[in-house]
Amino acid sequence: MDRMQELCEILNRWAYEYYVLDNPSVPDREYDRLYDELRELERETGTVLPESPTCRVGGEPIKGFERHTHIARLYSLDKAVTEDELSAFFTRVEKHGAPSYTVEYKFDGLTVCLTYEGGKFVRATTRGNGTEGEDVTAQALTVKSFPLKISYPGTLEVRGEAIIRLSALEKYNEAHPEEQLKNARNAAAGAIRNLDPKVTATRNPEILFYDVNYMSENPVSSQEEGMEFLRREGFKTYPYFKLCKTFEEVMDAIDEIEIGRKQIDVLTDGAVVKVNEENVRREMGYTDKFPRWAIAFKFEAEEAETTVRNVFWQVGRTGKLTPLAEVDPVELAGATVRRATLNNFGDLTRKKVAVGSKVLIRRSNEVIPEILGAVSGTEHASPVEKPAVCPACGSPVAEVGANLFCTNEECPPRIVQKLTHYCSKNAMDIEGMSEQTLTLLYEQRNVKRFSDLYRLTEESFRGLEGFKEKKISNLLGAIAKSKNIPLDRFLYAIGIGGIGRVAARDLAAFGSVGAISALSFEELISLENIGEITANAILGYFSDEENRAELARLKEAGVVPYAKERKTEGAFAGETVVLTGSLSLPRSQAQELIEEAGGVCLSSVSSKVTLVVAGESAGSKLEKAHKLGIPVIGESELLARLGRK
Ligand SMILES: [Zn+2]
Repeated sequence: MDRMQELCEILNRWAYEYYVLDNPSVPDREYDRLYDELRELERETGTVLPESPTCRVGGEPIKGFERHTHIARLYSLDKAVTEDELSAFFTRVEKHGAPSYTVEYKFDGLTVCLTYEGGKFVRATTRGNGTEGEDVTAQALTVKSFPLKISYPGTLEVRGEAIIRLSALEKYNEAHPEEQLKNARNAAAGAIRNLDPKVTATRNPEILFYDVNYMSENPVSSQEEGMEFLRREGFKTYPYFKLCKTFEEVMDAIDEIEIGRKQIDVLTDGAVVKVNEENVRREMGYTDKFPRWAIAFKFEAEEAETTVRNVFWQVGRTGKLTPLAEVDPVELAGATVRRATLNNFGDLTRKKVAVGSKVLIRRSNEVIPEILGAVSGTEHASPVEKPAVCPACGSPVAEVGANLFCTNEECPPRIVQKLTHYCSKNAMDIEGMSEQTLTLLYEQRNVKRFSDLYRLTEESFRGLEGFKEKKISNLLGAIAKSKNIPLDRFLYAIGIGGIGRVAARDLAAFGSVGAISALSFEELISLENIGEITANAILGYFSDEENRAELARLKEAGVVPYAKERKTEGAFAGETVVLTGSLSLPRSQAQELIEEAGGVCLSSVSSKVTLVVAGESAGSKLEKAHKLGIPVIGESELLARLGRK
């Protein structure tokens, strides 16, 4: 018995060195010799220790998969594909203090959950629908990148991604010409979800662990601690792990991953950004589908390599100078790409982009692809000079952080860009009013302000090239139609700094431009999607005399945006409510019900708030409510007032 224990210990350590650390300390035959000795002893004594490596052979084929309920739900992640979406996530998180973030690779395989009790491995399940998965213990046992015995004494569920390395896939395909596996993701899923564990074993899947999903005692207090815990207990984790403080650091890490993933042996489709601190996670909670404290940044599949030939500067509607690169023509997503952008001047140096450098470009949702970074060979490249004056109007340039701005409010391309944004589809949706037409109207008809659009007549277009009667009447019709527009679109259209479509919807809840212009700083930042910088931009916008005059001119021209009527009757009429802690119904649904019953929901507690609904394990918001003497009700009273109980 002692010898068996000793053998298990030695063999498991060697397997750990081999499969988890990729750093074997003994030759295979040495391992095989002791393994045979152990198996012989097991046969003689008729006992097999639970941590014995002989448990890993997988056993007989099974008839079907049993369903199993996870101890804690395995959530999936909300997705972002643009930097804007990611930045909206940051705004929401930063309302809960200044946490740190972790950035990791997002592997593309099959998610599995491993359960341990009293230090022993008991079960492996697939994620399934998050609540219930399939028991794949026999299949997972053939994978050697996790321990059968751990030191943690309580009940534990950890999560990992079952993957097949690209090199292992290639090897498999060479050995099985009659049965080619097309891609690594399906191969991994097919291996784990195969009724015959022997088939699982031939495909050589691995599991990379990245999450502690449940701990019955002494839970970890951060993602960083969770990863350390996993490594300490002998689970295989991927070495890349970045702890970041700022949005910029996170974006850098994402770029690193996007370039790095071309070189690694595992299939990836994105990066995962998580709030590191457990207490912030608890405070933010979950939507009905996703944790609010994590997001997956998904890479678009379409990327290509090309060479930068020239860089010039575009002036945007805020005056920001954006570098635009001319690149060697390259096929990307079915189109020939000749130009690619970067965010700002800082990006050029940070991503080592110069004239002559080879770069990786990605086509995202924007029309013009983005440069992700230089891939190699910048020795012959010549750096791009920082423009001293605006290339469009010659005015001095101001440097704010990594950005350069033209300081001239009347800079021509800037005016045209403002108008173009105003007319765009998600804004006022004035169909047919392209950048080209607006440039023409600016240059030849002095159209500078939004309100100038509404004084255009048929006469205004006469003599402009390319404008026939039909086109003119369509344009005038589209302009007239835009006078009747939802308030959130209008707020987005006028281009207040930092107001995207989501924040615009938040603001539109106040019913009118007048009501919004009267909001205080505190009221603004208490909105879910508005941070301090944006709040200041809104205050600045409405205190500017020219802006106020322009809003008056628009109103006079008949542009009167409408808001959805706010209910003034119901159980929550006149109440300003904050929800905190976890409720049995999704928070978004609770919010909707309260709003339907005449209430307004805010995300943070201030003296404006008249009622706090505290669910289970409510934290700092509840404390603050007590401090301010705001009435607090629990979930049962909430449901009762909503007439749902
Ligand atoms: Zn300029």
